[in-house]
Amino acid sequence: MAEAKQVVTRIAPSPTGFMHIGTARTALFNWLYARGRGGKFLMRIEDTDRERSTPEATEAILRGMQWLGLDWDGDAVSQFERVARHTEVAQQLLASGGAYKCFSSPEEITAFREAARAEGRSTNYLSPWRDADPATFPDAPFVVRIRAPRDGETVIEDEVQGRVTWKNTDLDDMILLRSDGTPTYMFAVVVDDMDMGVTHVIRGDDHLANAARQSLVYKAMGWPLPVYAHIPLILGPDGKKLSKRHGATGVEEYQAMGYPAAGMRNYLARLGWSHGDDEFFTDAQALEWFDLSGINKAAARFDFKKLENLCGQHIAAAEDSDLVAEIEPFLAVTGADPLTDFQRDGLSRAMYCLKERAKTFGELIEKAYFILGSRPFVPDEKAEKSLDPVSRGILRELTPHLQNASWSRDGLEEAVAGYAEANELKLGKIAQPLRAALAGRTVTPSVFDMMLVIGREETLGRIRDAAEQAEV
Ligand code: GLU
Repeated sequence: MAEAKQVVTRIAPSPTGFMHIGTARTALFNWLYARGRGGKFLMRIEDTDRERSTPEATEAILRGMQWLGLDWDGDAVSQFERVARHTEVAQQLLASGGAYKCFSSPEEITAFREAARAEGRSTNYLSPWRDADPATFPDAPFVVRIRAPRDGETVIEDEVQGRVTWKNTDLDDMILLRSDGTPTYMFAVVVDDMDMGVTHVIRGDDHLANAARQSLVYKAMGWPLPVYAHIPLILGPDGKKLSKRHGATGVEEYQAMGYPAAGMRNYLARLGWSHGDDEFFTDAQALEWFDLSGINKAAARFDFKKLENLCGQHIAAAEDSDLVAEIEPFLAVTGADPLTDFQRDGLSRAMYCLKERAKTFGELIEKAYFILGSRPFVPDEKAEKSLDPVSRGILRELTPHLQNASWSRDGLEEAVAGYAEANELKLGKIAQPLRAALAGRTVTPSVFDMMLVIGREETLGRIRDAAEQAEV
């Protein structure tokens, strides 16, 4: 039995700005498809447009990919550096008759188009040089055009869009090499995909029409077509194209907002792809389940609530040490101070009670103030309200009970509950000032968790600070 060909996919971003969330989703789909099948996932930077491509944008893409954990095989390929190869293929096409030299001037082309428009004909340029005798070629600049079929149809069997048909009269003799000899992007993509051994082209459906035109190059070269899967755009919650108006569109903004990469992957995978009713899943599950047949034909709408919800579940499910490792770069991108060894240790010990109910690392860090800050814990405005004279009295009275308590969850609960009962106090009357004393904040883990994490001595110290501070 013949062995199935190894799957090779790629992401081919143009480095002309930041990394768009749509590019990240396309990358994820390609990564899942290849990695789930023991295939290869490649990276090609489409930097042929020298005016618009910048090294900073390339860096931003590579960083975004790394943050998302989408690793690629081998080095990132620069399309620009492959110009000699593109030219070589164009020469081959010229030699075989699959392409021809066109000496038409821009003025001639404009005049053709204006006339065509006036007469209600297609404005696709019909070059007089297509069948010209080479003996008549002038010594003048020329472009290289593909010799596209003029009748019949071009069909793309797309894994998402189904069978899509174009009348060949609608496809023009597209330019492969410009008059300065540089390849067009439309042409370079085909040569690169072929040379890189790409078997599956999974990309945005804004490239669907390009597939028809690009397929002509494959045919002219006698190359096999890749499998195509053109995935629908991402829309904003209102059904309009996702834009800044709806919220962040750059991948790095999501990192800075504190979303965990695993939650982001889960959410982006669900954005336009589904596996039954599964919403929350692990990478292992996504790798096992992902298939082109699960990609929806309709555009997906970005739902920030759902993203947060999934991110919260991923934070809660993650290993404590992995969370600490991911929080450090998060702090770095937000410009926060790096963790000291002492803080990192505290964060690790507290993680079990911090990771429940935090939807972002920002929320988690806020709750971690009791372990990241240091004495004296000056209460913020809200916490201050829980430290009125009566509450401070409660803290003072509670102190000996904590001094004598056994330092375990049961021991602490017993000490606090015992004191509450003896004084006919509701637990909240004690927990609120205690929380304010321990953290100086109102959004914290439970007081028992905080006391367990920081220990007896530190607990009593902070209570003393709060009680004394109030005396002044
Ligand atoms: N460079 C194109 C883009 O950024 C992608 C081309 C492709 O995937 O074929 O939209």
